Amino acid sequence: MKLLRGVQNLAERGIANPWKAGESILLSVLVLALGAGIGLIFDLESGRHESNVFLLPAIVLAAGLGGLVPGVVLTTLAVMVDATTDYAISGYEARLIWKNIAFAGTGILMSVGGHLFRQALINAAKVNLEIQRREADLRAIVDTVPDSLVMVDHEGIIVRFSPGAQQQFGWDVEEVVGQNISMLMPSPYREQHPDFVKRQIDTRASSVLGRPRLLSGLHKDGSTFPIEVSVGELEFAGEHHFVGFIRDLTERQKAEARMHELQNELFHVSRLSALGQLASALAHEINQPLSAIANYIAGAKKLAAKGSDPALLDEVLENAGKEAIRAGETIRKLRSFLSRGESEMRPENLAELVDEATTIALVGSRTRKVRLKTKLSPVCPIAIVDKVQIQQVLINLIRNAVEATGERQTPRLLIETAPTQSGMILCSVTDNGTGLTPDVASQLFQPFVTSKKTGMGVGLSITRSIVEAHGGHIWTEPNPDGGTIFRFTVRGPDPATP
Ligand code: ADP
Repeated sequence: MKLLRGVQNLAERGIANPWKAGESILLSVLVLALGAGIGLIFDLESGRHESNVFLLPAIVLAAGLGGLVPGVVLTTLAVMVDATTDYAISGYEARLIWKNIAFAGTGILMSVGGHLFRQALINAAKVNLEIQRREADLRAIVDTVPDSLVMVDHEGIIVRFSPGAQQQFGWDVEEVVGQNISMLMPSPYREQHPDFVKRQIDTRASSVLGRPRLLSGLHKDGSTFPIEVSVGELEFAGEHHFVGFIRDLTERQKAEARMHELQNELFHVSRLSALGQLASALAHEINQPLSAIANYIAGAKKLAAKGSDPALLDEVLENAGKEAIRAGETIRKLRSFLSRGESEMRPENLAELVDEATTIALVGSRTRKVRLKTKLSPVCPIAIVDKVQIQQVLINLIRNAVEATGERQTPRLLIETAPTQSGMILCSVTDNGTGLTPDVASQLFQPFVTSKKTGMGVGLSITRSIVEAHGGHIWTEPNPDGGTIFRFTVRGPDPATP
C-alpha cells in the first residue's frame, strides 16, 4: 500500500514537473538491465527467443517519463540487447534479424504512444492546476468580501454560501447548502420565491437582475433585517445559476433614521427661531408707530374736548392713520424678509426635491403606514426655486396632511405636479383626512391660527410667505373624496431666457 502511494506520488510529481530526458533514460536503463537479466534466464531456460517482452517496460517507462527522445534511445538499447542475446544463444539466423526489426518498430510505436500519453497527462495536470488556482482565487474573494454571497441553482437550491452570509443570516454552510433560498426570506417573499425563479428562467424578463433591490432578510433566530440584493445570472452547459450579493442595511438605516431625526429637530428649532425673530422684530418695529398712534389719539381727544379747529383735529387723526399704515407695512416687510432669508433661486429637479422632502416629512409617521403616491408631470421636471425653502413648504403641507389623516384606517397622500398655462408649475398635496374646520378655513394662512392642542399655527403663514416670495400663490380646495387639497404654484424655467 505504502509502495503504491510512493509510486503514485512519484508519478504525480513527474507529471506536474516533467522529468528531464537524462533522468528518465537513467531510470529506464536500470529497468532495462533488470528486464535483460530476467529475459536472458527465461530464454536460456526455455530455449526460445522471447526475452524482448521483458524489455518493453523500460521503453514504456522512458517514453512515459521523458517523452519521445528517451523512448527512442531506450528502443535502440533494447533492440541491441535483444539482438545480442539472440546471437549469443543461437548464432546468426535471418528470422531472428526480422524479429529484431519488428521489435524495433514496436518500440518506436510504443515510444510515440507513451509520448502522446505523457503529453495528454501533462496538459490535464496543467488544466487541473489552473482550475485549482482559480478556485483558490474565487474562494479568497468570496471569503473576504464583506457582503454575503449566495449562489443558487435553477431551482433556487443553495449551492454556495459565503462566510459573510453565514455571519449575516446566522446559518452554518452545512445547514443551508441543498436547501431552498426561500429559507432566507420572510413571508410573503418566502412563498412567492420558488415561482419567481421559475418565471425568471421561463421569461427572462427581470426587474431583479443587475439592479440592486431593497428587500428583507430572515435571520436564523426569526428576526428580519433590511438588505440590498444584487443578483447576477450565469449559464453553464444549459444550466442556470443565480449569484446574489447581499448587503445588510441595518446600520445604514439606523444612521439614516438618526439623520432624519436630527433634521427634524433642526426644522423644529428653525421654526421656533423664526417665530422668535418675528416676535422680537415685530415688538421692536411696531412699538414706535403704536406709541405715536396713542399720542396722536390722546392729542386728538384733548383737541376735541377743547373744541379746537376741526382742520387741526383732522390733521392729527390723519397722522395717526399714517402711523397705522406704517405699522402694517413694517409687518409685511418683515414677513417677506423672514420668508426670503438667504433665498437662492435656481433650477432644481422636482423629483429629487419632492423625494427628499417626503422622506423627511414622513419619518415620524413610518409606523402609521401612510400610502404615499407621487405623480410628477414629465412635462415640467425643473422648477426655479430655493430648494430648501420649497422643501420646507412641502414638509409643512405633508405633515399637516398626515396629522389630518390620523383617524383614517388607510391614510392616503398624493403629491402631484402639473404645468399651468402661464408657464408656472402647479404643485398639489392631497389628503383623505378630516378636511378644514370652518373657523380655521376662514383664517387659513394667518399666523397663530391652529386647531391643535400643541400647534403653533405659524406653519401655513410661513408657507404662504415662502410661496409668495417665489412669485407663486397658495390656496386650498376640498378633496371630493374627503380631505383637503393644498395647491401652490412655483416658477418653471422661463422659455424666453436663452
Ligand atoms: P399648526 O400645524 O401648528 O396648527 P399650521 O399653520 O401648519 O399650524 O396649520 C394651521 C391649521 O390649519 C391646523 O391647526 C389645522 O387645523 C389646519 N390644517 C392645515 N392643514 C390641514 C389639512 N391638510 N387638513 C385639515 N386641516 C389642516
